[in-house]
Amino acid sequence: MALIEFTESGMYCPQADVFIDPWRAVNKALITHGHSDHARYGSAAYFTHHQNVPIIKRRLGNIEVTGFNYDESILINGVAFSFHPAGHVVGSSQIRVEHKGEVWVASGDYKTEADGVCQPFEPVKCHTFITESTFGLPVFNWNSQQEVMEEINQWWQSNADNGKASVIFAYSLGKAQRILCNINHRIGPVYVHGAVADMNEACAIAGVQLPPYQKVVAAIAKEDYKTALIIAPASANNPTWMKKFEPCSTAVASGWMALRGARRWQAADKGFVLSDHADWPSLNRAVQETGAEQIIATHGYTQAFANWLTEKGYNGRVVQTGFTGEQMKQEEEVQSI
Ligand SMILES: [Zn+2]
Ligand SMILES: [Zn+2]
Repeated sequence: MALIEFTESGMYCPQADVFIDPWRAVNKALITHGHSDHARYGSAAYFTHHQNVPIIKRRLGNIEVTGFNYDESILINGVAFSFHPAGHVVGSSQIRVEHKGEVWVASGDYKTEADGVCQPFEPVKCHTFITESTFGLPVFNWNSQQEVMEEINQWWQSNADNGKASVIFAYSLGKAQRILCNINHRIGPVYVHGAVADMNEACAIAGVQLPPYQKVVAAIAKEDYKTALIIAPASANNPTWMKKFEPCSTAVASGWMALRGARRWQAADKGFVLSDHADWPSLNRAVQETGAEQIIATHGYTQAFANWLTEKGYNGRVVQTGFTGEQMKQEEEVQSI
C-alpha cells in the first residue's frame, strides 16, 4: 500500500486516515501553507506549522487548528508526520510521512532561495518526493532576489522623481511581505491594500517582524502617494481602486513575467520576475537532494518535468491535483478576498 494515495478529496494517508492539503472537506487535514488552493474551508480539524495558524484563521475563519514546530513528530495511528521548512511563504512546510521505515515527503509549494522573511527551505531525505512543478521548464531561471529588488527600487525611485505613485501587484501572502522587507524604504513611504494588511497582521501575530507601512484608507490625500510604493493584490487593479493614486505607474511581480507578453496580459506598465516557487535549476537540485527514487509531480508543467526526470533515471510520474499553482492572472487573490 502506498503511504500517500491520490483520492477525489486529495492526498490521503490511509494508515493514519489523514489528508494533506485536501481540496474537499475531510476529518483531519494537514496543511502545508495558507494559499487558498492548499488551505481550503470545511475540514473538521486542521494541523499545520504554528506560524501558519494565524494565517489560515484569517482566511478560513473560526476553524479547529493545532500548530506544530518544524521537525516536531506527530504520531497518528503509528504513522509519524512532521513539518519542515518549504521557504515558500511565512509558515509554509513540506510534510514528511514515515511508516515502517518508508518515508514520503509532500513538498507543498517551495522555493530554495532564502527570502529574509520566512524560514529557508531545507531538503528532506525520502524514498518518494511529491513535488510541485509550477515552473518546471528550463525557460524559468530566476535572477537573485537582491537583483530583482534593485530593479524594483530603481523603478520606484524614477517614478518618485517624476511625482508618480508606484503600484506593484503581488500576492498578499508571500510576495507582498518579501517586497516590504527587501525594498529601500528611504525612497518613500510604503502603503498596502487591505488584503495585504490582513496578511501582514497575521504574519506579525506569527512572530515575523515587518518594516513600517501604512494601510490605504480613504482619508489619505492624493499628494501623500506621490513618492509612495503601494503593494496590492492583482484583483485591486480596477479603475475605482486605482484612481486615488493617479498619476501612477503599475507593475506586476510574478514568475510569469519571465514569459514574453505576460506583462501585457496583466495590463501593467512593468513586470518583475519574482516568484515564491522554485525555478527549473532549483527544482532539479531539490529533487536530487531528497535522494528519492520516486518523484511525483503535481501542479504546473508536470508532464515536461516528469519526462525529464524519467530521462535522468528517476521513477517520475504525474498526478492531477486540485492545486492551481501561481496563476497567470493571480486568481488565487480574487478567490480569497
Ligand atoms: Zn502557494
Ligand atoms: Zn501550490
